[in-house]
Amino acid sequence: MLFKDIIGQEVVINKLQSFVAKDRISQAYLFSGKQGVGKLALAISFAQYIMCKNKKGGDSCGECPSCKKFQKLEHPDCHFVFPFFAKSSGTNCDAYIQDFRNQILDTPYFDISKWWDIMGDAKKEGIINRSESNNIIHKINLTSYESEYKVMIIWYPELMTQECANSILKTLEEPPHKTVFILVSNNSDKIMETISSRTQKIEIPNISNDEIRKVLTDKYHKSEDDAISLSKLSLGSWTRVLNLLIETEEIKRNFEHFTLLMRTCWGRKVLDLIKWSNTIAGWGREQQKSFLLYSIKMVRESFMNNFGDSSIIYANSKEEKFMERFSPFINEENLLILFKELNKAYQDIQRNANPKLVFLDMSLKLIKVIRP
Ligand SMILES: [Zn+2]
Repeated sequence: MLFKDIIGQEVVINKLQSFVAKDRISQAYLFSGKQGVGKLALAISFAQYIMCKNKKGGDSCGECPSCKKFQKLEHPDCHFVFPFFAKSSGTNCDAYIQDFRNQILDTPYFDISKWWDIMGDAKKEGIINRSESNNIIHKINLTSYESEYKVMIIWYPELMTQECANSILKTLEEPPHKTVFILVSNNSDKIMETISSRTQKIEIPNISNDEIRKVLTDKYHKSEDDAISLSKLSLGSWTRVLNLLIETEEIKRNFEHFTLLMRTCWGRKVLDLIKWSNTIAGWGREQQKSFLLYSIKMVRESFMNNFGDSSIIYANSKEEKFMERFSPFINEENLLILFKELNKAYQDIQRNANPKLVFLDMSLKLIKVIRP
């Protein structure tokens, strides 16, 4: 990962570059900041930069043997420590290293709940245990394989057990020559004072709206309007932007299929309704449920639109245009039947009924409601 791949954070990057330029690399850093500002991405690109054999223009070259290994996160002198579910007291994070690498290769902007989910239970919380501290000390005392430096990135040091923290104190204070610890924390107040006092602290600020907007237009080809509204919702977190992008895709898909359903019902095109039902039946069950909830929302808001109270309506501009034309067809008489049919389909899907039958049955009933 190169510095140029980081979203924003120019000031921090300049600082990291100058540590290397002035040959003043500390033995331990603490990168702290909110979720999604790029702390882990910065830690990895800093490690890569320290080890790159052919730095140019203040960034890693991306091509030397060391950089090539970083591309797969498999550099033998860069170690990762992260919280995990300890199945037995002897488990350490080596058991999950490939999952961790795969997630970072997908994107280094992810939150911890995503990590718990990958490990199999989004509701559980992992730890960095005593067994891992032995692993840390063992790895840090190995002679480096290829690089002058050894780097150990510890993600979520606040989730170290007290036993683990105590047993790495001495190593953190007096690590072997040319060893760098980078602690990456979301909540540095929760790190034991004895640990954090041994580190050089680097505050990672929120990403500015302007930087987020620029990446969205330049790299994600979003319209200026979309980029501005997403950046306003971002709260300085790129992880949040990524989640919003997924949500936006879902809304777009639901909108397309809801409007298609309503037009087809209005046109009484039964063959097209069968086709439509088959398409929706091919989706995943969660997507089908999301579509039905979305449809209920659209019907409700279209009905509200008839009373001209736009303050209670939450809709984007496409949805608003559609509602303008659609709402005259929603009245007190058919509103309740529409709700009943959509809710019934939702419950049927939830109890694993055959989706082809559920959606076809629902759409045929909707014809009578939309165009009696
Ligand atoms: Zn390089």
